Parts: sequence; structure tokens; C-alpha cells
Amino acid sequence: MIASLLLGLAMQPPVYFLMLRPLKLHMAQLASKTQDLERANSMLEERVSERTRELEHATRKAQDSLHSLEGSHRHSSLVRELVELLEASNSAAEAREMMQRYGHVLFPGVKGALYVYHSSRNFLELGAAWGAETTSPPTFSDTMNPDDCWALRRGRQHDTDRHTCNPRCRHFAGVADDCATLCLPMVALGELIGVVVLFTDFTPGRTAPTISEDTRYSMAAAVEQISLALSNLQLREKLSSQAIRDPLTGMFNRRYFEETVERELRQANRKGAQAGVIMIDLDHFKRLNDTRGHDAGDAVLRRVGLLLQDCVRIEDIACRYGGEEFVLFLPDISIDQLVSRADQIREAVRDMQVRFHGDILQPISLSCGVAISPEHGTSHADLLESADRALYLAKKGGRDRVVVAE
Ligand code: GH3
Ligand code: MG
Ligand code: MG
Repeated sequence: MIASLLLGLAMQPPVYFLMLRPLKLHMAQLASKTQDLERANSMLEERVSERTRELEHATRKAQDSLHSLEGSHRHSSLVRELVELLEASNSAAEAREMMQRYGHVLFPGVKGALYVYHSSRNFLELGAAWGAETTSPPTFSDTMNPDDCWALRRGRQHDTDRHTCNPRCRHFAGVADDCATLCLPMVALGELIGVVVLFTDFTPGRTAPTISEDTRYSMAAAVEQISLALSNLQLREKLSSQAIRDPLTGMFNRRYFEETVERELRQANRKGAQAGVIMIDLDHFKRLNDTRGHDAGDAVLRRVGLLLQDCVRIEDIACRYGGEEFVLFLPDISIDQLVSRADQIREAVRDMQVRFHGDILQPISLSCGVAISPEHGTSHADLLESADRALYLAKKGGRDRVVVAE
């Protein structure tokens, strides 16, 4: 019995074996689950790092756009600041100075210049240059032929870089071929008033940068506002000049002369100083008009005007009094000096050669009447009357002479 029991037991698989089977099964499942878990984990890690990358990219983009927003905000405030200064400027010279100061901050990374049309509209004059003005020889010439700029010829912005096949403007002759260029026409109230020309910096051995579309856009917007401010200034200058200047000769007009001389004389009287006037009338001017025509007469008047403006001191006032009559006011002067100045002018005009339609016009003479304050009058009206009487005597005495008031 015991023997058969033992035999039976021997025939059966061992108990511990029976116990190990589910454990083995469990281990295999565990390994497969671990693998699943590892796979899931690595997928998760991959997704996390992908998300992190995306997040970093988005942050960079946000920072970039914040940067560019800050940049464009700063740019707009600079443009506004410059426009305000241009509007408050009293002269083209002041406006030029402003442009020079703001040029390199408004157009960063590029060198540039601003050209404005001359009143003849035949050429443009250099108004301001930034970045390149220190180079020798200078990159920007003092004048520009409008035909040398594609932006002026087409009336729209013109750019070139190494990726485009656009023709390069001739005024960039001194600029390295690799540089990108940009010309922005200055248009105000439908009129072309000038051009802003720009080119990128160039370091030998390195590729010159191009000008991005965003930069071009913001620069064009700045130029648009600057153009309007400059055109307003030009208009103001023209109006104020028309109010005080004679259009033919550019000399002061009679109204300005009378107002200013009255003030200057009061000052001279207070100081106990002398001040003189020279009244000038061209001799036989009607004859010149009759023989050579009114245009020839105008040419002579313009030249006399230039000569008179050239020969006065900064404190003197030279005026076209009317027709072929001129008057000069000279403060702080003695009677001898006054007569000698009048004589110098008389001789200079007599020696003047005026070319008209290819030939030289007949020499012209003039007569002068001089008067000095306080001797011949202390008000401008009295002084001019004395000078006029002296002028009459000069004419009566045979013309081409200087006569002192009595
Ligand atoms: P006198 O020596 O006595 O001064 O003789 P005059 O011929 O110069 O003097 P008159 O007063 O007889 O003539 C002045 C002339 O100046 C007449 C006028 O046609 C001319 N004149 C006045 N204004 C202008 C102008 O703007 N352009 C031209 N071309 N001629 C002018
Ligand atoms: Mg006259
Ligand atoms: Mg005359």
C-alpha cells in the first residue's frame, strides 16, 4: 500500500513544478507589459520633447515678434519725432541737419543720402548723407542727374541685390557691386520732390546683407512722412521768401527794406552811429530794352542784382527798389567809405560782361546818390529823399557818377 502510494506519487509531476508554471507565465506577461510600458514611456518622452521644441519655437517667435513690434514702435516714434522737428524747422539748412542726425537711426544697417530737386528741376542737390559721408572719396556726389536714378525715372521704389537682375542706378557708381541698394522716391501731394538712396554695408570677404521686405516697407513709410514734412517746409520757405524777396533778382523787396531800415536807423541813432544809403539807377536802361528786348534787360537786372548782393557786407541790406532802381543800406560807415563803396559798384557794373543769346551785351553804366544819417536825415524816408535828390543831380550832371546829398 505504501509502495503503491509512493509509486503513485512518483508518477505525478512534482508539486513545486506545478507551482512554477503560473509564475513563469506571470513573468512573461510582466516582461511584455514592461516592454509596452517602455515603448509608451519613450513615445511620451518623444512627444514631450517635441512639445518642448514647439513651445521653444513659439516662444522664440513671440519674442521675435515682440522684438520687431518694439523695433517698429521705436521706429515710428523716431519718425514722428523727426517729422515734428522738420515741421518746426525754419529753413532747409535746419532740416538738412535734422536728416543728418536721424538718418542712421531711421535707416539702420544701411548707408544713405537724401537728394532734393533744385528749383530748376534739372538736377537734384544733396540734402543730407549718413553712414557714408566719412568715406574718401565721398560715395555721394553733391548733385544728381535725375536720369541716373531708376526710382526717379519710374516714380516708384527701385531695389537691387545679388538675387535680382534689376539694373543698378548710375548714381551708385562708387558702391561695391555686392551691396544691396534701395532708392525711395520722395512724393508729396502728388509731386516728386526728391529721392532717398540707400545701400547695405559691405565687409570685404563677406556676403553683403540684403534689405528685407519688412525693412523696405518701414523705410518707405518713413520716407513718405519725411517727404510731406519737407514739402511743407519748402512751401513755407517759398511763401516767406516771396513776401520779402524780388522774384527776378532774389534781392530784398522795397517793403522789407523800408521796414528793416526804419528799425536799423533807430538803433543807429540810439548808438550815435552813422548809417548810409546808396541809391542806384541804371543809365539809359529803356534804350537797352528797346534795342535788345525785355529779356536782355531782365538778364542785365539779374546780373546787377547778383553783383550788388555779392559786394555787400553781412550787416548791409541790398534791395531792388523797383524797375531798374536799387538801394543799399550800410550801417556803421563814414561818408568817405560810403562814396568809395558806391564808386566801386559803379566801376564793377561798368566792367560787367553779360552774355545774352550767344553775344555780349553793350556795357551799362549807373548813377548813384548817397546820403548818410544823421547828416542827411534820421528817418528812412528823409534819408531816401536826400539820396534820391543826389541821384537826380547825378543824372543831370551827365550820368555814370556818384553824387553826395547836400
Ligand atoms: P535814365 O538814365 O534816365 O535812368 O534812363 P532810363 O531809360 O534808365 O530810365 P527810364 O525811367 O526812362 O526807363 C526805365 C526803364 O526800365 C523802363 C522800363 O521798361 C524798364 N524796366 C523797368 N522794370 C523792368 C524789368 O523788370 N525788366 C526790364 N527788362 N525792364 C524794366
Ligand atoms: Mg529809373
Ligand atoms: Mg534809369
